[in-house]
Amino acid sequence: MERLILFDIDSTLIRSQNGYLPFNEAILRTFGIEGDIRTVVPDGNTDPLIVKDIFTKLALEIAIDESAWQEFAGNLRDCYRRHLCSGTMSIRAMPGATELLKRLSNQENFSASVVTGNFEWTAVVKLEAAGLASYLGRGAYASDSAFRPDLPAIAKTRFESHVGRKIDPAQCVIIGDTPKDLEAARHNRMKCLLVGTGRYPLEELLYWQPDGCLADLSDTDAVLSALSGL
Ligand SMILES: [Mg+2]
Repeated sequence: MERLILFDIDSTLIRSQNGYLPFNEAILRTFGIEGDIRTVVPDGNTDPLIVKDIFTKLALEIAIDESAWQEFAGNLRDCYRRHLCSGTMSIRAMPGATELLKRLSNQENFSASVVTGNFEWTAVVKLEAAGLASYLGRGAYASDSAFRPDLPAIAKTRFESHVGRKIDPAQCVIIGDTPKDLEAARHNRMKCLLVGTGRYPLEELLYWQPDGCLADLSDTDAVLSALSGL
């Protein structure tokens, strides 16, 4: 059966080191405020809601319009690029991620894309830095909606217009590392495989009863067999 695999990015496909540096710098540049992403739990959240959480933590009420979000997304992309270039931050693919995406790209019945809380520009920079961008189709991003459960349907529609045929939500599988990834899958009647490579240990992820659960993506055969069995 055909499957569309929708990957979360952070802590699922990639791990960033010192990712707070470009994020905090982009906040300062755009809003003139010294916010710190390390004061909130960003996992599974979208970038606009992370920024709002940071401001709430600072007891600031700031109205942010669409043009300010655009400016923030541009600053974020530039700051990530600069910190990656200078080596003050680094991004690497998770163990097994590259091999898994290669195998998926060679299988006729699997297609791979992303559903992420990153803005599209930032997602591209991160995936390119990890060497994964070429294996993934255009998905859905925080620049499409700040509400994560909106995103899987957008990624599905983009896939359908790219290939010129429809796919049933039950044939779509979200792979992520947080209960929020599962919530977004459920909201869209899609399947969900969670991996314990982020903030949440495997036992906690199992509590939420995803359709599948793995410690990580390192065993490609195990991941493919889990995906085929969903
Ligand atoms: Mg994640």
